[in-house]
Amino acid sequence: MRFVFFGAPGAGKGTMAAEASKEFGLPHISSGELFRAAIRECSPLGLQVKELIGRGSLVPDDLTIKIVHERLASPDAANGWLLDGFPRTIPQARSLSEIDPEDYVIDLEVSDEKVIERLSGRRMCGKCGRSYHVTLKPPKVANICDYCGVPLYIREDDNVESIRRRIETYRVQTAPLVDFYRSRATLVPIDGEGDATSVWHELRILMARLMGLQLVD
Ligand code: AMP
Repeated sequence: MRFVFFGAPGAGKGTMAAEASKEFGLPHISSGELFRAAIRECSPLGLQVKELIGRGSLVPDDLTIKIVHERLASPDAANGWLLDGFPRTIPQARSLSEIDPEDYVIDLEVSDEKVIERLSGRRMCGKCGRSYHVTLKPPKVANICDYCGVPLYIREDDNVESIRRRIETYRVQTAPLVDFYRSRATLVPIDGEGDATSVWHELRILMARLMGLQLVD
């Protein structure tokens, strides 16, 4: 089954896709993480996108579509996937519908206030990609990943100026996709305002139902 996790920056797409990947055994494919890996490796793509991402702008469609399509062609994605952060524009959505159409788009609905609160306190593990929050979801030991034991970092684009720009970019370029997906009847809205545990509780039941699976607990 193919799921797109959709929503504003900070809506919880990455957190929910990571949980769903563990639960349902589908690969979690994050376009942002593909770019961050390219930046860490200092690849030509990484060098090309570093500044754009740092200031909270979108990467051009041609580069984004290429990197995501390459990832979707990997053998582990042949029987389904969880896309997080892609598509973000109408051309990206059209490209996906042509090469590997989604079954459902999970739209995590959150307020701007929640987005700002979540992103401004977010801390990331560079090794496993898990995200934490200084007050909403602190690690057991301050600033250390619970699972990898490595220090957490603050994403370069989680600063006030970039957060504002990303919210604006979402409104102008990405939110129109809601109508696109509504017209394809694949949009499934879910309230993403609560804490990660309660949103995941609801989402797990919803996804199992969409997949026709029986949950054991
Ligand atoms: P994310 O981890 O999804 O918040 O993405 C981080 C940043 O990577 C975004 O703010 C964009 O600069 C870039 N990015 C990720 N996915 C896309 C996409 N689908 N289209 C364009 N830029 C993207």
